[in-house]
Amino acid sequence: MAQNPSLSSQLSRISRPSEQLRSIVHLPGPFAELPRHPILYSHPSPIHPLPSLSVTPQSPNHPRINIYAKREDHGAPLACAGNKYRKLEYIVPDILSSTPTYHYHEHHPTTQKLDGPATILVTEGAIQSNHTVQVAALARTLGLKALVLLSRGTGGGLRASQDRDSFVRSGNVQINRLLGAEVRILNEGDPVASDANPILEELRASGERPYWIPGGASLHALGGLGYARAAFEIEMQECGLNLEGSGRFDYIFVACGSGSTVGGLLAGFKLGETGTRQVIGVLNSPTKPRSYHADRVLSFARRAAAQIGFDGNERPTAEQAIAMDDVRLEDRFVGTGYGVLDVETTEVMRIMAQSESIILDPVYTAKVARAMMHWVREDEIQEFARQRGLQDVNILFIHTGGQAALGAYADVI
Ligand SMILES: *Cc1c(COP(=O)(O)O)cnc(C)c1O
Repeated sequence: MAQNPSLSSQLSRISRPSEQLRSIVHLPGPFAELPRHPILYSHPSPIHPLPSLSVTPQSPNHPRINIYAKREDHGAPLACAGNKYRKLEYIVPDILSSTPTYHYHEHHPTTQKLDGPATILVTEGAIQSNHTVQVAALARTLGLKALVLLSRGTGGGLRASQDRDSFVRSGNVQINRLLGAEVRILNEGDPVASDANPILEELRASGERPYWIPGGASLHALGGLGYARAAFEIEMQECGLNLEGSGRFDYIFVACGSGSTVGGLLAGFKLGETGTRQVIGVLNSPTKPRSYHADRVLSFARRAAAQIGFDGNERPTAEQAIAMDDVRLEDRFVGTGYGVLDVETTEVMRIMAQSESIILDPVYTAKVARAMMHWVREDEIQEFARQRGLQDVNILFIHTGGQAALGAYADVI
């Protein structure tokens, strides 16, 4: 397939940056009223073309495939910008509330109330978790402490590393420490890795008001709202991009880890009702089957849908509105483990770096890009265009951040 050489012709189709910067996301009624604490820049994260990956048709029967990236890794001024800041925007009002509602550990929903705003954020992740860094950075800006629990047993990145000692000190671990978070490295099999409640109790006993944020913030009751709002932001940006063909992004490729990024997007696109977009959630770990992720994504999407205006508004209920057909979960590129880089995925990181000067992260976005490149070569996207008589298919790749983990992968790349 021929490559599309013309960066300037693609760039010229985009509205001027100043136009993108000024835009404000308009949310419908009940959604607009939900409290949100701004963490991201006030302008949308940028969307730009990826000309070297886009494909020009070789014959009149083939569509042109236009590929764009949405840079969630450029979405916020805080350390290591990535998708978790967007979720946290809707959680901060509860953190700062004089009567927090969702501060408890998910296994202990009846835990005692906090008698005031949180004093310390507590969260968890794999050793090279990006989420924990975003929580630690947020804590700093809110004037709170942070306790970060990192589990040696989560995923295979540590096990696959040639230099395990460095893996548990570099990359995101180093940044967590630099941000002033207390970091506790949990050994494999430590019961706290699956239930941190004893730590929260200890903190309460010592006079702190701990606020628990589950891994990836997905199990948090408000965790899906950020990406529901992102769906409206994408719809708004589509209008300024003058996209060919359907005028929309027909396919959206995004990582699916803990699941509320995909879940939130589904809820937001459903409420937006501006037409169908095929969301492809790319899984990155073989540990759990696709059905496990499907159940989670569906439950996060429905929960967010109920919060943003489906239930009780003469609309279909959240249950009726969102079904599994609304998303495809791609599990062919999970590789041998969460956080483990295989040869093919490493090659995709090199291609992205050397053709577009874009650095992917080794855990999520590299696998997403690999899946997307595979789909572009497959017939399905061509068939989609043929059925609709489209000369152009538009694809959006969401870059969710995570590059700081690369430091721990120096032995692989
Ligand atoms: C957490 C994370 C994801 C996955 O998002 P979920 O909402 O957990 O599915 C994707 N990419 C990066 C870089 C992340 O840090």
